[in-house]
Amino acid sequence: MPSEIMQAVRVIPKSIDDYIPVIGEDKVKRLKELAAPLQNKRVLHLNATAYGGGVAELLKTQVAVMQSLGMYVDWYVMRANPEFYDVTKLFHNTLQGHPGTISEAQKNIYLEAVKNNARAIVESYDYVVVHDPQPLAILDYITAPTGKWIWRCHIDTSEPNLDIWNFINPYIQNYDAVIFTLEEFVKEDADFKNLTFIPPSIDPLSPKNSEMSEEEVNNLMCSYNVDPDRPLIAQVSRFDPWKDPLGVIDIYRNIKFGQVKKGIKGVQLVLVGSMAHDDPEGWIIYDRVMRRAGEDFDLNVYTNFHNVGDVGVKAFQYAADVVLQKSIREGFGLTVTEALWKGKPVIGGKAGGIKIQIQDGINGFLVSNIQEATDKTLYLLQNPDIAKKMGEAGKQIVKEKFLTTREIEDYLILFNKLSGHPCSTVSC
Ligand code: UDP
Repeated sequence: MPSEIMQAVRVIPKSIDDYIPVIGEDKVKRLKELAAPLQNKRVLHLNATAYGGGVAELLKTQVAVMQSLGMYVDWYVMRANPEFYDVTKLFHNTLQGHPGTISEAQKNIYLEAVKNNARAIVESYDYVVVHDPQPLAILDYITAPTGKWIWRCHIDTSEPNLDIWNFINPYIQNYDAVIFTLEEFVKEDADFKNLTFIPPSIDPLSPKNSEMSEEEVNNLMCSYNVDPDRPLIAQVSRFDPWKDPLGVIDIYRNIKFGQVKKGIKGVQLVLVGSMAHDDPEGWIIYDRVMRRAGEDFDLNVYTNFHNVGDVGVKAFQYAADVVLQKSIREGFGLTVTEALWKGKPVIGGKAGGIKIQIQDGINGFLVSNIQEATDKTLYLLQNPDIAKKMGEAGKQIVKEKFLTTREIEDYLILFNKLSGHPCSTVSC
């Protein structure tokens, strides 16, 4: 049984200057200018897992780039017993609108684990960024908090179950600043200090998003039982009901069974899902996916336990003709950004952060049900030239709005604002 105490996560160092070829010298100069008043400041990021899921993906890059900009940045992850993750997954699901109540016993499991983890924070920081609901209550258990505390919510809280919202709301009130991805995620009557909206981002230089030759992609496809010469649909996601992997199988089957008559032959589907440390529901949904998949040699389901890591995910995203992200609720959906960056059109559920990434008909399509998703997928498979143009448009949109350097810029502006270095001293 793991002891309930935070653990430090190390990241591979990065240099901000390496981003010059991607975003240009002026933007890097601006980041350095914003970072100038923050030299040697101490920053701590806290979250629930170092692996699997979007927050871990974001922090791997952001911690390293902030260090390269002259700050001392630590990243700690919580450690807790399995019951804690069962409760926090319930928090996650109910915050995204699932019905149900949180019992007193479940609240106590949560608070006890958070309290135990709080013991690890003994040093002083200038800024502490607490990610998502899992460590949210920690600020209440820090005996002498220093610096500015920021709660960063990554999930879609547009229609939360009120039982859970009313439980977490008092903890959010204690923070000096609160970040959501979209305005629609914040209830109208919410009254948070320094409420800020920051969309997430991807690292164009990470092993998951860097370039890959066609030959390497094809070789990897063969090793994963995918025929590079036949059409491929892919969804990369945790096995989570909100990501609707079962719906994706239905879309694929609709196309497969109607394929000859529509001129699409031999379509294949790959579902890739990592098992995040803080998501106990993953294996349950994986079992359901495997049952629905049945024995179909054109439908492959992979996890990180099948040796599909960053490079494997990248290869599937490059190999796919169409990428799906058929979410019903979605905080942002880094997988959408990742696929767009690889020049792929994405068909995404009309939900949360997917709506700000996909411009309907420009770089993909927004869909509300299986039939719409089937029609749009078929359309893109039948019209590869249009799919290619949409992919190119998508890459450009990511370059302008969703690269890590833009998100770091937003953080630096907020840090400066909280420390009283407003736009008069730093050009915001
Ligand atoms: N991911 C991965 N392997 C997988 C499935 C997902 O590395 O098998 C990564 C994916 O590439 C993305 C992140 O996990 O970087 C998922 O982030 P997203 O915002 O899409 O969803 P979340 O899991 O945070 O809800």
